[in-house]
Amino acid sequence: MAKAIIDPKIKGFICTTAHPIGCAANVLEQVRRTEADGPIAGGPRGVLVIGASTGYGLASRIVAAFGAGAHTVGVFFERPAEGARTASAGWYNAVSFESLAKKRGLRAPSINGDAFSDEIKGRTIDCIRRELGKVDLVIYSLASPRRTDPKTGEIHRSALKPIGQPFTGKTVNTDRGLVHEVTLEPASEEEIRGTVAVMGGDDWKLWMQALLEGNVLAKGARTVAYSYIGPQLTWPIYRDGTIGRAKADLDGAVGEIDKLLTSVGGRAHIAVNKAVVTQASSAIPVVPLYISLLFKVMKEKGIHEGCVQQMGRLFRERLYGKELLPGAVDGLGRLRIDDLEMQPDVQKAVENLWPRITSENLRELSDFDGYAAEFLQLFGFGVEGVDYEAPVEMAKALEDLR
Ligand code: NAD
Repeated sequence: MAKAIIDPKIKGFICTTAHPIGCAANVLEQVRRTEADGPIAGGPRGVLVIGASTGYGLASRIVAAFGAGAHTVGVFFERPAEGARTASAGWYNAVSFESLAKKRGLRAPSINGDAFSDEIKGRTIDCIRRELGKVDLVIYSLASPRRTDPKTGEIHRSALKPIGQPFTGKTVNTDRGLVHEVTLEPASEEEIRGTVAVMGGDDWKLWMQALLEGNVLAKGARTVAYSYIGPQLTWPIYRDGTIGRAKADLDGAVGEIDKLLTSVGGRAHIAVNKAVVTQASSAIPVVPLYISLLFKVMKEKGIHEGCVQQMGRLFRERLYGKELLPGAVDGLGRLRIDDLEMQPDVQKAVENLWPRITSENLRELSDFDGYAAEFLQLFGFGVEGVDYEAPVEMAKALEDLR
């Protein structure tokens, strides 16, 4: 198999190459952080993570396996290496996760394919039955630009747009580090409907129905889907925009799923997570600039968190073990793990910086360098201790892929 030196190739908000050693180092770092926090008392035994290869889903799988000692099944949509093309970062992450989990004696099979399809749901259920028997936790962490409806074959596309009126606001061109104004036209009805169909609660419900019918949910099984609210300055594009409409749809679905799970004595939850750098969040206008400012403020206050710290707290302080502290659950019953991001002193500091930020002072007033470094690291680049001059094997197989 050919070896090559791999460089990042960034196109807008994605990087089309990924570094296998860098991705492996990222996964190992998250595993080490999780293990350093000690075992999770009363944690899950068998976990299904839908969207398990990057971002919040990968971190959830790591915390479940290396914090709680759970066997896990991961579902994701990633690209293996082909010829001169590297695999996607999520593929390399999943390979590394699987090999580390196996070393700890944990079962960690993965299914690569379209989670929205009936076929992948069926294969996942077979895999759970064969490998784990049942699962007592289902994490729903998909972020996708499109979904093919399994019944009608219609292709729904999600859009990241305001609703009702155009929105003009500051954003940053992450390639060039330039702050500029952007005007986003409001979404059409079709785009709103498409975003809700892709990122709303419909597919989560279909998954939970299928898992229940497949008899692979253990007694007391719980499911969690991830949401975001954020501060007012992102609301025109997030909470009040198309993606916010989809997240509101999750708020409706959670009640229905909760009812569905009464037959196994289970519960459904939404967790509201903080803003972090992932492939999904870097595609949203305005959000990368907000994250750059947020990181600056939270790092200065010593309360910065990435995906694995967030998921560590979700499992340790919200889902398992400890009694829920006041403020851990909001009026709508959502588990709030965005508490540090939403602290009034943090938001006040970001608000004060927001009107002052320009291309000239971007690196001084915000942690744009930290943002850019984390973005590259998503693809395994700029990771400490990795020799990027050395040629590496591009193909890495997922041994236990079903
Ligand atoms: P991500 O892009 O890092 O991960 C998305 C995952 O979904 C990957 O594992 C990918 O393989 C998988 N996926 C996408 N399409 C798929 C398909 N058709 N079939 C199977 N798998 C598919 O995204 P993320 O930022 O970790 O987002 C996960 C969830 O967390 C989303 O619901 C998002 O809204 C929510 N969230 C994100 C943030 C943030 O700042 N990133 C904050 C709060 C909540």
